[in-house]
Amino acid sequence: MTVPTLKLNDTTTIPQLGFGVFQIPAEDTKQAVLEALEAGYRHIDTAQMYGNEGGVGEAIAESGLAREDLFVTTKLNNNNHRPEDAKRSLRESLEQLGLERVDLFLIHWPMPGVYDGDFVSTWRALLELREAGLTTSVGVSNFQPHHLDRIVSETGEAPAVNQIEVHPYFTNDEAREATRRHGAEVESWSPIAQGAVLDDPVLVGIAGAVGRTPAQVVLRWHLQRGDIIFPKSVTPGRIQQNFAIFDFELSEEQMTSVSDLDKGEAGRRGPNPDEMNILPD
Ligand code: NDP
Repeated sequence: MTVPTLKLNDTTTIPQLGFGVFQIPAEDTKQAVLEALEAGYRHIDTAQMYGNEGGVGEAIAESGLAREDLFVTTKLNNNNHRPEDAKRSLRESLEQLGLERVDLFLIHWPMPGVYDGDFVSTWRALLELREAGLTTSVGVSNFQPHHLDRIVSETGEAPAVNQIEVHPYFTNDEAREATRRHGAEVESWSPIAQGAVLDDPVLVGIAGAVGRTPAQVVLRWHLQRGDIIFPKSVTPGRIQQNFAIFDFELSEEQMTSVSDLDKGEAGRRGPNPDEMNILPD
C-alpha cells in the first residue's frame, strides 16, 4: 500500500497519512510506533509536550529503517517560545529522537495571551533553525487566520503546514481556508475526534454502504479533502485498519453528508486557540 505524498511550499514532500502519538504513555510509545512502522506508516507526529519523543526515537532506531524513508514531526512546547528556548529545546528533542534533524518543527500553540502576544519572534527562531539545518521544514499548529496573517506579513515567510483541529463535528473551515490561502497544507488533528464521531448514524450508514468501518470512512473523507492526518491508536488491529484507506472511495454525496455533520464551535474537542494560554507546570 503506497501512501500518497503532498508537496510542501518549501518543495519537500510529506506522506499524507502518518501516526500520532498524543496521549501514548512514554513507556508504551516504542511498541506502538514499532507496530505502526510494521504496518507501513513512515510519518510520525510527536511533540515536546507529549513526553514521549524518547520512545519514538527508540522505535526508529530499532526499526532499522533508513532515515530518508521516515518523516518525523515534533512541536515546540508552550513554555519554550522565547527564541533561545526554542533553539535549545529543538536540540533536546533531537537528542531524545536520536536524529540529527527533524523533517518538520511546529509552534504547537500561538499562546496569544503570553509572551506579550509575541509569537513572531518564535516564528523567526524556527526559521533560523531551518537555516541551521536542524529541521527541514517549519510550520505552525493551532494558528487562527489572523495569527497566520501576522507571521506572514511580519516575516514574509508562510509556514509549510498549519496543524489544526478538524473532524466531521468541527470542520474548521475558516482556518483551513486561511491555511490554504497562504499556500500551506492543512494537517487535521484528532481526525476521528478521539472516537467521538464513530457512533454517528450517518457515518455508520456510509460505513455499511462501502463495507468499511466508520473510522476508515472518516479518515478517507480527510484524505479526499486533501488534508494530512495521523490517527493515534495503541491497538494493533486499529493501527492496521487506519492504514487501509487507499483502496476505496467516497462519492461526492457521501463526502457532503460527512461535511454536513459540522457542529461549528460546539463541535470542538480542544481549546479555542484564541483562548489557550495555559503554560505547563
Ligand atoms: P484521534 O482522533 O486520532 O483518536 C484517537 C482515539 O481513537 C484513541 O482513543 C484510539 O483508541 C481511538 N481509535 C483509533 N483508531 C480507531 C479505530 N479504527 N476504531 C475505533 N477507535 C479508534 O485522536 P488524537 O487526539 O490522538 O489525534 C491524532 C493525533 O493528532 C495525535 O496523536 C497528535 O499527533 C495530533 N494532535 C495534535 C494536537 C495539536 O494541538 N497540534 C492536539 C491533538 C492531537 P486506542 O488508542 O485505545 O486504540
